[in-house]
Amino acid sequence: MLNSQINLNRLEFLITFRCTSTCDHCSVCTDDVDKKATHLDLKRAKLFVNEACDNYRINSMMTFGGEPLLYPEFVCELHKTAEERNIENRQIITNAYWTKNGKRIDEIARMLKDSGVNDILVSIDYFHEKYLDYDIVGIALEQLKKQNIPHVSLHPVWVVNKESKNSYNEKTKELLKMFDYLDFPQDEGNNLFPAGRAVNNFKEYLPTPTEKIVGNCGDLPYTEKPNNLKCLSMNPNGEIMGCNVIGNIYKSSLTEIISRYDYKNDIVLKSIVEEGCSGLYNLVKEKNIELNKNGYYSICDLCKDIRAKMLLHR
Ligand code: SF4
Ligand code: SF4
Repeated sequence: MLNSQINLNRLEFLITFRCTSTCDHCSVCTDDVDKKATHLDLKRAKLFVNEACDNYRINSMMTFGGEPLLYPEFVCELHKTAEERNIENRQIITNAYWTKNGKRIDEIARMLKDSGVNDILVSIDYFHEKYLDYDIVGIALEQLKKQNIPHVSLHPVWVVNKESKNSYNEKTKELLKMFDYLDFPQDEGNNLFPAGRAVNNFKEYLPTPTEKIVGNCGDLPYTEKPNNLKCLSMNPNGEIMGCNVIGNIYKSSLTEIISRYDYKNDIVLKSIVEEGCSGLYNLVKEKNIELNKNGYYSICDLCKDIRAKMLLHR
């Protein structure tokens, strides 16, 4: 075993921060991300998959962005590697607006089929439709249907939750209906998340921030305990992420990054793993950190702010 704190079973690749949309709720393509690297380096990404599979039983891999299918050749090549390495669940999240060119849409759908991708989640909702031509999205969905890819689902974002009655959800329901004729299943989707542009544009629909945060790592979707990481992701600039950066694939191999990881070397992670949320507040006192007067949406929001302020005062 490389490291008892890392028990990988899933890999994620943030292919690019570029996108064909500029959704008002986006938490990924915000102004503060490092957009120097247009997309992941394929050679390194394949090496990442191979090294992970040499050392762990990986059962799922996801590619997302930005819009990953701005680079379909690249993404498909990576999924072929995943299939060769027997990763069962090979997923893509896409907005299905890849290009306006019908011939190219057809070509991309074929490439996806040949790549062995077996789970495509298509974002269909008010937020995406605002910036994308849904006639084109419809053509892409029809091509995906034609290719008979094992699982394609419509993946909406709900404002507050699916049951909440508001104009955004009503519009999303109409849009989902538009594609009923294709008979794709609709998945649970996500609820609007308090991060990125959503915080500026949809404050009234988000929970009220508080100064007294409770909870622990793993409470929020897609988070886990730093002393038992099961998923690592790679960013376009080569950064390897647990819930924060743990190394860079351009500087070290995945094996080296995993072998030297120890949450105890990171004072923020050590505090939260060993003392929970009160560990974070103890750190705030000890380091004299000034917290946001407006409060925080979640434990991760608090944790990330403490990390940023500690880096600032180094
Ligand atoms: S399509 Fe996805 S990645 Fe692109 S702007 Fe919208 S939410 Fe962000
Ligand atoms: S961001 Fe902080 S609180 Fe959230 S999962 Fe990671 S270590 Fe835990």
